[in-house]
Amino acid sequence: MTSSGAVKVEIHNLNSDQPILLAKPKKANESKIILAGHIDVVQGEASQFSPLIKKGKIFGRGSFDMKGPLSALILAFVNLSKKENNLPLTLFISSDEEIGGWQGTNFALRKKLLNGKVAILPDGGEKFSIISQQKGPLRLEIIFKGISAHAAEPEKGTNPIIKLFSFFSDIEKAKILEGNGREWQTTIVPAKIISTNSLNQIPEQVSLIFDVRLTKPKETDKKLTLLLKLGQKHSATIKISKVDGLIFKVSPENIFIKSWLRSTSQIAHKRPSFIKNATSSDGRFFALKKIPTIITCPKGGNRHADKEWVDLKSLEKFRLIVEDFITKKMDL
Ligand SMILES: [Zn+2]
Repeated sequence: MTSSGAVKVEIHNLNSDQPILLAKPKKANESKIILAGHIDVVQGEASQFSPLIKKGKIFGRGSFDMKGPLSALILAFVNLSKKENNLPLTLFISSDEEIGGWQGTNFALRKKLLNGKVAILPDGGEKFSIISQQKGPLRLEIIFKGISAHAAEPEKGTNPIIKLFSFFSDIEKAKILEGNGREWQTTIVPAKIISTNSLNQIPEQVSLIFDVRLTKPKETDKKLTLLLKLGQKHSATIKISKVDGLIFKVSPENIFIKSWLRSTSQIAHKRPSFIKNATSSDGRFFALKKIPTIITCPKGGNRHADKEWVDLKSLEKFRLIVEDFITKKMDL
């Protein structure tokens, strides 16, 4: 553990590629409010790593997702810790969110290094809107086994690709893959086919991998249940990856959310809207631990894309909202 000025800092998994950092005010002996963020970014061109400030916006890889919002969290944390050195705050920074969050937020919560009554995670939405739900990602591998043979003698083998086609025709008939693009619903997308062996052979095995995004827990989701049943009907082996379909959900009636709405309305002069978001975040790990999480962000754009940007004035407003929220929620 290292300490610097008004705060104490712990770094875990220091020797791995995905370390985490936890910081607390020097005299804090409990943690109620978590300020959470990640410093990793998605890949980008070399030029995107030289930030550019233009017309009140900062452009560059990670400016919006989420080094900009994270810098506002850090500043709010330092400002408040300087005023009072026993505030029940934890600043938590991970470095693997873009590749799943398993060694970061998931690890810290599971090992009880991180706890609290509410988390602020500026990693989603737009212009101070609040994310009320995010789909739960799940990867599903449906494996068909056959009997390998030389391609010149197909009668000596059993081709699993034929089994796969028959299964696929059933899932099309059951309309599992269809969606109208508007409704908040589970999506199931065939993403990859892997087969073994070389081209002059009947493969021993073929796998179809689905990218599934759940809107309901996996046990009660009708589309997923139907897909699994069809897999069983066709004698496939089914593997669910460790990406486990955790869904993020927070109630607009939650007391922390209501308090956040008040702080935002006061400072940004804007009543935030609630949005459902098809992508996922580390919010799902907090949801699993029943820690209500405020997923929001200042004004910015082009996440994971070219010309990613964040508005500097909006970042400052965001910092003020965080400080106002924490100051008012100290007696929780
Ligand atoms: Zn992010």
